[in-house]
Amino acid sequence: MSNPGQHFVAIIGGAISGSVAAEILADNGIRVAVFEQNARPYGKIEDGLPRWHVEQRKQEYARIDARLRKSQVSFIPCTRLGRDINFEDLAKNWGFSAVILANGAWRDRDFGIPGANQYIGKGLVYQNPFIYWYNHKNERGYSGPRYDTPDGALVVGGGLASIDVVKVLQLENYERALRDRGIETNLHELEKGIPAVCNEHGVRPEDLGVKGCLLIYRRREQDVPLAQAPDNPTPDQVAKAEQVRQKMLRLAREKYLFRFQDRRLPTGLIVENGRLVGLKVSETKIDGRRAEPVPGTEQEIRAPLVISSIGSVPEILPGISMKGEYYEFVDEQVPRHVAHSHVFGVGNVVTGQGNIRVSLVHSQAVTKKLIDEYAQLGTDTEALAAMRASAENRAAERAETVIDRVECWPPLSSGQVAKIESRIRALQTRVGYTGDYDAWIAKVSPPDLE
Ligand SMILES: Cc1cc2nc3c(=O)[nH]c(=O)nc-3n(C[C@H](O)[C@H](O)[C@H](O)COP(=O)(O)OP(=O)(O)OC[C@H]3O[C@@H](n4cnc5c(N)ncnc54)[C@H](O)[C@@H]3O)c2cc1C
Repeated sequence: MSNPGQHFVAIIGGAISGSVAAEILADNGIRVAVFEQNARPYGKIEDGLPRWHVEQRKQEYARIDARLRKSQVSFIPCTRLGRDINFEDLAKNWGFSAVILANGAWRDRDFGIPGANQYIGKGLVYQNPFIYWYNHKNERGYSGPRYDTPDGALVVGGGLASIDVVKVLQLENYERALRDRGIETNLHELEKGIPAVCNEHGVRPEDLGVKGCLLIYRRREQDVPLAQAPDNPTPDQVAKAEQVRQKMLRLAREKYLFRFQDRRLPTGLIVENGRLVGLKVSETKIDGRRAEPVPGTEQEIRAPLVISSIGSVPEILPGISMKGEYYEFVDEQVPRHVAHSHVFGVGNVVTGQGNIRVSLVHSQAVTKKLIDEYAQLGTDTEALAAMRASAENRAAERAETVIDRVECWPPLSSGQVAKIESRIRALQTRVGYTGDYDAWIAKVSPPDLE
């Protein structure tokens, strides 16, 4: 593709979706600045995907590195939007052609029971910090919060991440129980299946005295969001997806021996001596996507720890307006922030949930469209006129989009680019980043990172 003019794009977040956007822009001759809050840019690959995914994590790190070390890409580590840089300043004063939010979904969805959050760290833990701890806990330099993994914990969830939470608890508990019997195992061995490992060591899992954690889910077993039916599914496709979900859940339970109850909704807290010691839980009645508590079915489930794993949403950042739990984006094809014509979103920050592939594909599709619809036009007046006409035609059907679609990125002058570069250098210098991406990664990677 020809060089579309002198454009400079800011990306917030350097992980899967941010690095993919950076690479595509760079390959199209567009300068990119990637602002990343952490020293290492791997996002949920390092801090979400549990550390038993050894090979997958290494491969994804290498892919992200390859994208971010491109010469058109300036990496700005340890620089957090909302703390070290201000959104309004970035969007209005820096002079970037566009800002792409690729900062993922790092805020745990609120547990939803009034007063619950006062027990965080006192019987209640949210999934994101819990998995972060699990992935980093054995590093000598780890100084964050530490969590217990008592037997009999109660996990509220149902999605893929909650299965990982349950696995962490079960692996920790069985490793301890086996060690008490003089049998040394490790997470990598146990992750292949607890019964098989016990069997190899001549022990029956049920003789180890592990009660196991309990996962509760508000809808039916066949609704657990472990697999998705295609869009507009036929009844057969719905039935197939339900079977796949049940099978995935059954296999996970066979390998990791956790307990599961469906159609259970937390409705209250059990508190003793200032600590959360369990939940009041009602059975639910399912009506389409709704799960309503059935009156008179409330029971108490006591547990030494409650982990909330009910989804992640984008963090609230000053200046970025929200619609419910998400940033207020318009246009599904090229998600653009409602209040800023040149601020876009890619990956988990838009989709909320998803997986590596979904984030990657989303970022690819949106970034390519951005280049086609906004950057390419910056120097092409004929194309711009055509775009305007087409937008006006479309306005008959979708009046609200008429102005939105004709905003292209005017090429920046050398002076404007130099000004952005100078601000980038100041931020890089502040954190000791010299511009040598590989040297930086080598310097900031903990020697005992798993
Ligand atoms: C427990 C768990 C298990 C998972 N298991 C799997 C799995 O097995 N397979 C799979 O495919 N997917 C899995 N996923 C999902 C997958 O990891 C994510 O969907 C994907 O990695 C998201 O990529 P992203 O780039 O959109 O977001 P992220 O990886 O979240 O990247 C966002 C980046 O932005 C940075 N950032 C955030 N806020 C700011 C800010 N204010 N300023 C600057 N930078 C900021 C972050 O540090 C991060 O680097 C799992 C997720 C979790 C939580």
